[in-house]
Amino acid sequence: METRIGIGWDSHVFKAGVPLRLGGMTLEHPEGLAGHSDGDVLLHAITDALLGAVAAGDIGSFFPAGDPRWKDADSAIFLNLALEELQHAGFRIVNVDTTLVLAAPKIAPVAGEMRAHVADLLCVSLDQISIKAKTPEGLGLDHVAQCHAVALVERVQEPEELKSMTEVIESQKQLEDVVDDLLASVHGVPKKRTVEPVYDTEDIT
Ligand code: MG
Repeated sequence: METRIGIGWDSHVFKAGVPLRLGGMTLEHPEGLAGHSDGDVLLHAITDALLGAVAAGDIGSFFPAGDPRWKDADSAIFLNLALEELQHAGFRIVNVDTTLVLAAPKIAPVAGEMRAHVADLLCVSLDQISIKAKTPEGLGLDHVAQCHAVALVERVQEPEELKSMTEVIESQKQLEDVVDDLLASVHGVPKKRTVEPVYDTEDIT
């Protein structure tokens, strides 16, 4: 079984007047996180970890910060794109582990609910998602929220085009049929037909 690993990290600064979004949830807190989207560092870090696991780029390459379409966007959109890239590459999630680094609010009271929410967004079971939290002690970063994420993924199928070919082609004859079909459909070339012998073997003496 082929397994791969991806790492993601993100940070956003706290800002008054915006809701605090973490793990796709809105938390009670005097400040939220500033960002072009909803500033959900947890979902951003997981998105990058999943994209990284299949070498599909990063969140910024799909969703540039200056693009007005993603202004105040729900970060579940980004996570969904990463899931699609993962599935397209033929992989599925084994587990995702995360560590939030922020001075406040305390995450422990809501970590269970947040895990369940993230598991739902990723279409996996609760035990495949871990959310931990630390305070940025000694870093002087009490005004910032950071998140580290690691994703382990495993291959469940060959990429779509390879799978379809390997499923269909089991012999030289089948390969020729596939090529004929392609030529007929793309270039209008009539299929070659196998000509059956017309003689009766009883007549060969
Ligand atoms: Mg971000």
